[in-house]
Amino acid sequence: MAALDGLPPLRDVIQRHGLDARKALGQNFLLDLNLTQKVARTAGSLEGATVFEVGPGPGGLTRAILALGAAKVIAVERDARCLPALAEVADHYPGRLEVIEGDALKTDFAALAPDGPVKIIANLPYNVGTQLLVNWLLPAQWPPFWQSLTLMFQKEVGQRIVAQEDDDHYGRLGVLCGWRSEARMAFDVSPQAFTPPPKVTSTVVHLTPKENPIRCAVDKLEKVTQAAFGQRRKMLRQSLKPLGGEALLIKAEIDPQRRAETLSVEEFCRLANCL
Ligand code: SAM
Repeated sequence: MAALDGLPPLRDVIQRHGLDARKALGQNFLLDLNLTQKVARTAGSLEGATVFEVGPGPGGLTRAILALGAAKVIAVERDARCLPALAEVADHYPGRLEVIEGDALKTDFAALAPDGPVKIIANLPYNVGTQLLVNWLLPAQWPPFWQSLTLMFQKEVGQRIVAQEDDDHYGRLGVLCGWRSEARMAFDVSPQAFTPPPKVTSTVVHLTPKENPIRCAVDKLEKVTQAAFGQRRKMLRQSLKPLGGEALLIKAEIDPQRRAETLSVEEFCRLANCL
């Protein structure tokens, strides 16, 4: 990292500030300069953009984002032990890094968004990552305040995010992501790239918002996907019984004998709109 920005190597930063990784906070740090740059580059050009980062930790990804030209980074970190290390990064990039100490799940990101382009980039803590993604996909106001999401997840979660019908990983998350975004898996990251190494492979997912998703009420879409995938091996006429069963399916022009995993996002929206 020293070559990138003249700041000390992350290993030194971690040692100097006593940032031993805590499992409860999902702390698996990225120390490799090439890798943090590769993650940041997946978001496309950062020139003039404000980047929201969740969980900057000792600041490896933050430093890559700043070195690649983001106008400003607003980073939300729950672990107060990381703040002095992040203050050193802020001093190195005057006026370009704002660190908010707090829980990202309780942060109103839309309210923090400036007028210009906003990109969200994060190596997410595994225990809150999916909920954060869902929160960013659910707002009533669409298109949302963000231009793209570039997020590191456990690979299995990444597979669920990009899954489409007839895929084993297809479920509620895939329908929600496919409804409102274009999602792709960018690249995998092996456990050895992290300190400490997690048990599983990770993957970087890139999402951009669809400008005109199919019109559909979020709560109704949630209802049908919850019921359908709650009993994914059953025929829809059975799993959707509490919501109208066969009559609902006929109204939506969907064969009642089909199973949840065979329905496209468009068909789920049709069902939601017939509720
Ligand atoms: N960005 C750093 C990197 O790539 O090396 C650290 C990533 S680590 C996987 C996740 C980070 O999220 C940790 O720094 C942890 O303290 C922080 N974190 C955990 N839960 C959080 C929450 N609810 N809100 C904000 N930050 C959180």
